[in-house]
Amino acid sequence: MSDFGAARWYAVRPAGSTKPATYRCPLCGGFLPALSRHYLVLPEGDAARRRHAHARCVTNARRSGRLPLREDVEPRRPGILARLLRR
Ligand SMILES: [Zn+2]
Repeated sequence: MSDFGAARWYAVRPAGSTKPATYRCPLCGGFLPALSRHYLVLPEGDAARRRHAHARCVTNARRSGRLPLREDVEPRRPGILARLLRR
């Protein structure tokens, strides 16, 4: 299943698809009708590798630590405003 599982972190976005397509969820391997409520999962934020995943699979994977977000694996950097105010 490509390198979906090899990413260090993922970006998760609500999917807003209106195409009557069917995807395969990378988390459970099951079919996912595009019109159902679900998420886009982007390995390391890479839109070219994005996958459609069931909302419940994303929730379960987050809970069990299988879907780390960027802020989980990278130390938080000071925001741009904090950096500007420090000068
Ligand atoms: Zn699923």
